[in-house]
Amino acid sequence: MLQDKDRIFTNLYGMHERTLAGARTRGHWDGTAKIIQNGRDWVIDQMKASGLRGRGGAGFPTGLKWSFMPKESDGRPAYLVINADESEPGTCKDREIMRHDPHTLIEGALIASFAMNAHTCYIYIRGEYIREREALQNAIDEAYDAGLLGKNAAGSGWDFDLFLHHGAGAYICGEETALLESLEGKKGMPRMKPPFPAGAGLYGCPTTVNNVESIAVVPTILRRGPEWFSSFGRPNNAGTKIFGISGHVNNPCVVEEAMSISFEELIEKHCGGIRGGWDNLLAVIPGGSSVPCVRGENMKDAVMDFDALREVGSSLGTAAVIVMDKQTDIIKAIWRLSKFYKHESCGQCTPCREGTGWMMRVMDRLVRGEAELEEIDMLFDVTKQVEGHTICALGDAAAWPIQGLIRNFREEIEDRIKANKTGRMGAMAAE
Ligand code: NAD
Ligand code: SF4
Repeated sequence: MLQDKDRIFTNLYGMHERTLAGARTRGHWDGTAKIIQNGRDWVIDQMKASGLRGRGGAGFPTGLKWSFMPKESDGRPAYLVINADESEPGTCKDREIMRHDPHTLIEGALIASFAMNAHTCYIYIRGEYIREREALQNAIDEAYDAGLLGKNAAGSGWDFDLFLHHGAGAYICGEETALLESLEGKKGMPRMKPPFPAGAGLYGCPTTVNNVESIAVVPTILRRGPEWFSSFGRPNNAGTKIFGISGHVNNPCVVEEAMSISFEELIEKHCGGIRGGWDNLLAVIPGGSSVPCVRGENMKDAVMDFDALREVGSSLGTAAVIVMDKQTDIIKAIWRLSKFYKHESCGQCTPCREGTGWMMRVMDRLVRGEAELEEIDMLFDVTKQVEGHTICALGDAAAWPIQGLIRNFREEIEDRIKANKTGRMGAMAAE
């Protein structure tokens, strides 16, 4: 359980000043130049030792990712790009950082860019995040005025510019290579990987794309030390983590907690329990809409981290915890996600463009019970044809929620089909 003194995000709820002066009273921008003067290798080694895994959803080790950037310049500029295109349904954690604690992100951007030999960083912010953009831009302007950005940023000897780029509301632009295309002024369509951005990213130059939370935790990790950060959570799942809990809990909230907290503790401590009590819990999507749902009874004792959630057939993803009680039509809830992914597919590759449509249309009929029993297996097969056969992870994201539904709620789907059949036959007999 995390104590208040261990929280990185001390203004998550906007109770204090988000201005530079307010941020300084909370310890931000304290000794930034000194951190940078320890050198590039030191920063990367500290980040590796902290065990931080990317907070955007995939959990790739952050220090390792930074180490893929060329050590010496080959004539091409290097870039840090911060992915603030937070669009995964259920996910609203980065929003709170940008609204209320923007300086921790800006300070992190400077330190991380230095570590990767980048003099320029772009923050790509989601189109719908208008207030967040305003808060962040105000903070960037303040930082420039105070000499924390620009030439000799924060007195570190490193010249550094930070630009905020506003997206236009396409979910796919959160995929890192689509984001880079969009930043270059093109249609936001994912690129094939490899090459990964560290080899050829923005304008073909070495680039690291990191999530907002991943960058915002950097200054505190470096000030308090990697051992402090890795003292939270289980091995390989270190640190504090922002969870966003929505749905049928008594008090939905966004909260920073220790990684590997149990689901029950998270819900009891911060959300006032499940609406109607634990017996009323039907299902949980523990990591944003792309990850499979889990039956409520299997979730209660689950540990909330990358590795443990795999054991219950799901994933931590963005740590957007969507709770559904027994009043939820779970088939319809997952159908709604299918509709979302079909709408957001960029249409570039066939399995995703066609598959998302097929899956949605079968899901459409499952919701009404107007399918044959054999179609459940057929739908599962289609998800398997989409999964892993597409250019980007949107194909997987569309397939996994349906797989989770079929694995966990097959009986409910079958019952609906049978009830519908019985109803139809009854109606025909009455005619
Ligand atoms: P990924 O596993 O392909 O990559 C994760 C990161 O590691 C990327 O930056 C990638 O470049 C890097 N990487 C992976 N393998 C590498 C290698 N061999 N060499 C160098 N770099 C390597 O995952 P992804 O497609 O970036 O992200 C998928 C995740 O995004 C999903 O799990 C989902 O949870 C999450 N997601 C988040 C949001 C959101 O709003 N935050 C929206 C949609 C999806
Ligand atoms: Fe576009 Fe879907 Fe292919 Fe991704 S998987 S590139 S969203 S068509």
